[in-house]
Amino acid sequence: MGGVDWSLLIACIGGASLAGIVTYHAVAGYFYCRHYIRRRSTAQSWKLQPDRFLSPELHRLAVWAGTRNMLLSGLLSGALIYAIASGSLDAPIYTDVAGWGGWAYTVGSTVVWFLLAEYTAYLVHRLLHTRFMFRHVHRFHHRFVATNPYVTMAMHPAELLMLQAATLAPLLVIPFHALSVVGVLLYIVVFNVAGHSGVRLESALPWQPPAQFHDDHHAHVHVNFGQHLLIWDRLHGTLRRHGRHYGPEVFGGRGQRDLGDAVAGRELEPFVRY
Ligand SMILES: [Zn+2]
Ligand SMILES: [Zn+2]
Repeated sequence: MGGVDWSLLIACIGGASLAGIVTYHAVAGYFYCRHYIRRRSTAQSWKLQPDRFLSPELHRLAVWAGTRNMLLSGLLSGALIYAIASGSLDAPIYTDVAGWGGWAYTVGSTVVWFLLAEYTAYLVHRLLHTRFMFRHVHRFHHRFVATNPYVTMAMHPAELLMLQAATLAPLLVIPFHALSVVGVLLYIVVFNVAGHSGVRLESALPWQPPAQFHDDHHAHVHVNFGQHLLIWDRLHGTLRRHGRHYGPEVFGGRGQRDLGDAVAGRELEPFVRY
């Protein structure tokens, strides 16, 4: 058993950090330039909350916290890659499709991991919406009532660690193809940015909800806890429903009956079905 292979360790950590930061800025920068810079004056036609923009201070906070978190995430995943590459951690990641039951297993296991990662992310997110965790950890991410693409990774470091551990844990137990791992992680980043874009985006993928789904999470707070699937919210009764009122003080995910005009001469809150 040799000592630490420093050049391999630096390559793993440097490579993972750089890949994470570049991907985050490339995807978030793409949406930001395309809409917030080029089409700012016509926000009514593309923005989900057209009258609400982040203040310059909040925007800078989102970019800074997002970049810091991608660096932190790169340090941790780089250390994990090093542990696997140097043989000190035994993760059943493979590159030979034929040796693992062919494409059926490779595609099937990728779908299983995606479903598993989505469910654990849903559970972690619900945990973050309990009173204690919300006040001490998750409130940071919810400062951004109207989101923009950079808000995606703007969260408390403890939240990042919880989500990362939940997403990566199956890699230590179930055999996955190396490209499945890269593909699912890339999918999560790209569609999370789209979900935080604040732009009226629909998806061509039938399972992927429109950006309105997570935008409503930021606007109404304790509801819509899923990332890229509606199924977990449907199963747990936490999908936003018509005629329900939600808000920062309405915990639990199911809201309260919205009495609307019956009480204050007010319309029911606008509702869009996903
Ligand atoms: Zn939340
Ligand atoms: Zn969010």
